[in-house]
Amino acid sequence: MGSAYKRIVVVGGGTAGWMAATALATALPAHTVELVESEEIGVIGVGEATFPAIRNLHRLLGIDEAEFLRATQGTYKLGIEFRDWRVRGEHYFHTFGDLGDLSGPDCLWGHFRRLDDASLGTLGEQCLPSVMASMGRFQGLASEENKPFNYAYHFDAVLYAVFLRKLALQRGVRRTEGRVVDVRRRADGGVAGLKLADGRELAGDLFIDCSGFSALLLGRTLNEPFIDFSHWLPVDRAWAVPSEPDGTDMTPYTRATALEAGWAWRISLSSRIGNGHVFASRYLDEERAREQLLRQLDGRPLAEPRLLRFTTGHRQRCWVHNVVGLGLASGFLEPLESTSIFLIQSGLGHLIPVLQESPAPGAAEIEHYNTGMTRQFERIRDFIILHYCLTARRDSALWRDVASMELPETLAFKLHAWRQAGVLHQYAWEGFDAHSWLAIHAGMGHWPERADPGLEELTRAEASQALRQRRARFAAVAAAMPSHDAYLRRVLAR
Ligand SMILES: Cc1cc2nc3c(=O)[nH]c(=O)nc-3n(C[C@H](O)[C@H](O)[C@H](O)COP(=O)(O)OP(=O)(O)OC[C@H]3O[C@@H](n4cnc5c(N)ncnc54)[C@H](O)[C@@H]3O)c2cc1C
Repeated sequence: MGSAYKRIVVVGGGTAGWMAATALATALPAHTVELVESEEIGVIGVGEATFPAIRNLHRLLGIDEAEFLRATQGTYKLGIEFRDWRVRGEHYFHTFGDLGDLSGPDCLWGHFRRLDDASLGTLGEQCLPSVMASMGRFQGLASEENKPFNYAYHFDAVLYAVFLRKLALQRGVRRTEGRVVDVRRRADGGVAGLKLADGRELAGDLFIDCSGFSALLLGRTLNEPFIDFSHWLPVDRAWAVPSEPDGTDMTPYTRATALEAGWAWRISLSSRIGNGHVFASRYLDEERAREQLLRQLDGRPLAEPRLLRFTTGHRQRCWVHNVVGLGLASGFLEPLESTSIFLIQSGLGHLIPVLQESPAPGAAEIEHYNTGMTRQFERIRDFIILHYCLTARRDSALWRDVASMELPETLAFKLHAWRQAGVLHQYAWEGFDAHSWLAIHAGMGHWPERADPGLEELTRAEASQALRQRRARFAAVAAAMPSHDAYLRRVLAR
């Protein structure tokens, strides 16, 4: 059993720091929570797209959706549109919806493949939020039970941290402005206190390292090794720039367009468009990457592009002694599926119950936490690699290399299970369910080699009718919804 954690100190006031402080203060009212941040250093200021789990966090924190959207210039996100990933000129959606039965005689994708009939449209037309996205429609959910689809948000990352900060301070979090310049260690190697540039010291029992890429405690102080994923995910730079809205409706989805040596994101916020070009410097120099980004903006840039450098991977352990790393301090996978904020939330979702159950978590709890976080990084890594390794593009070195690279065993097994038997294998700690995996396989034109004989229980005519009906129903449901702009305006006026 370790020593009791009563005083929690959060280092860093970016998205991770303020999410952690707000959640900890809400869930653990008997603890003291203090956050130290440095305006001089600032926050990374990117991270505009999220995952539906964020709505659970907001529910637990009692956040009102309209207030949050107003404060963060937020919009709704139904998923991601991938352009040019398999070959140039093609696109597909990965949205937060379901694609019917995934196995058995009613297996939707199985019948779709078996019929192989162009008049049925795309598999995406069998998924309600993909239809909504392609039509630019949006509507909130009548209830959280039996929901026909799920959704997330886009927001301004800097405004989100400010929004959470206000909430955290209301919930009793103490904020200290200051730069941490040194760390006082405990005899067992843990952290006893943080020394600030002005001479003050912050003592604590548990330290949450949310210091961003500098990983002040987990990396610089405790030297926890970094597990490098860059041989699978070679992107290591991003240019980010906001641009003027282009006068068209705000898209209720993120767009990810594959480019020569990476991909570009486009995110509609209510006041501007967020853009970025994530690329591998091994294949493209920074200046050309900047030009490629600026060339494909829909509107005038509103600032000078900003360059960010990173390495994909994670700390071997995210919880070491009395330090838990969250956010960029614990690791980073490229932002293709908007999973960083989700991983912060997931870390908190596992940490908080441990702290609620035991005032002094021991080695077993810490190991369990670390295993879980490692698995999540690995599962999401595999899912992101899937977007690359199935490409049919051979027009530049990056695409040729990712199409032939050796895959992690866990992913190779999944690809084998899908190709041989049409099985969407799921491991423990998956971040993405089988419907998401199917959306990428289908979007990339990657199908099993054989049809399941069980599908013969339905005649071709019956299967065709079922698919046509589902497609027509979703088209009608989406067409009856307001446009995303109109719905958002209504919510913001509440
Ligand atoms: C190009 C790019 C695009 C991204 N897009 C997405 C996305 O779409 N969706 C998503 O979920 N995530 C995305 N992310 C990740 C996302 O930006 C982060 O997960 C999120 O913003 C959390 O950042 P953070 O709080 O860990 O770090 P930061 O925002 O960097 O905050 C670090 C904090 O630590 C403080 N600090 C550092 N050193 C000290 C010190 N010595 N003393 C005191 N304070 C200190 C800083 O002042 C700051 O307050 C993206 C990341 C990149 C690089």
